[in-house]
Amino acid sequence: STFDDAGLHPVILENIKLAQYSLPTPIQRYTIPAVLQGKDVVAIAQTGSGKTAAYMIPTLSKLMGKAKKLRGPRPGASSPKVRAEPLVVIVVPTRELAMQIFDEARRMCYRSMLRPCVTYGGRPYADTMDDLAQGCEILIATPGRLTDLMDKPHVLTMSRVKYTIIDEADEMLNTDWSEALAEIMGGGDTNDDADHVYMMFSATFPKGARQMAREYMSQSYVRIR
Ligand code: AMP
Repeated sequence: STFDDAGLHPVILENIKLAQYSLPTPIQRYTIPAVLQGKDVVAIAQTGSGKTAAYMIPTLSKLMGKAKKLRGPRPGASSPKVRAEPLVVIVVPTRELAMQIFDEARRMCYRSMLRPCVTYGGRPYADTMDDLAQGCEILIATPGRLTDLMDKPHVLTMSRVKYTIIDEADEMLNTDWSEALAEIMGGGDTNDDADHVYMMFSATFPKGARQMAREYMSQSYVRIR
């Protein structure tokens, strides 16, 4: 199978070509069609497997294919109540991983009208606020920073989030971010959309991760390993 016959949006296909990805990796071969079909996914995946593109490519492609208005507030928007209304939230354990994923998101968002933002513990809040105010459809964040932003007034609403992606779930569960993950998976109580897509990527699938899948994901989630 190839990227060309996967049924991806032409803008995303062009970005895959620009990135010089010629063939999908195994995890991409299984994850891309599942996400395009609207399924929740739990994937056992190691760094280096191409897992980031595996979730980024079909998620962006689905969003691009939607007719309805995608973009959130931008500078000059008539006094928006909140600065950011992301459609996709990607949660990762470390700043390094957040920055790598941000690079992949930027590559795949080229000419898409979708704007990625990244934030993590230690990044000055003022920088994050300025960045979010430029518009943010794809938000990549560490769990503590994300819940901090969710708890601040007029910064972030989770009400438009359609895709919640937990990357390196086992790392975050090991370092006791389970409460933050529960708050994020629950959408901060503002999102009860039945079409909400959840994805979890993890090198191992410990008890905490199985519990999270049971509690938040569709019972028909696709398991990939
Ligand atoms: P990851 O496992 O997401 O950290 O990705 C590992 C590396 O593989 C990254 O540098 C990606 O840019 C690259 N990559 C992802 N998918 C492909 C592909 N289909 N072909 C070639 N390189 C890829």
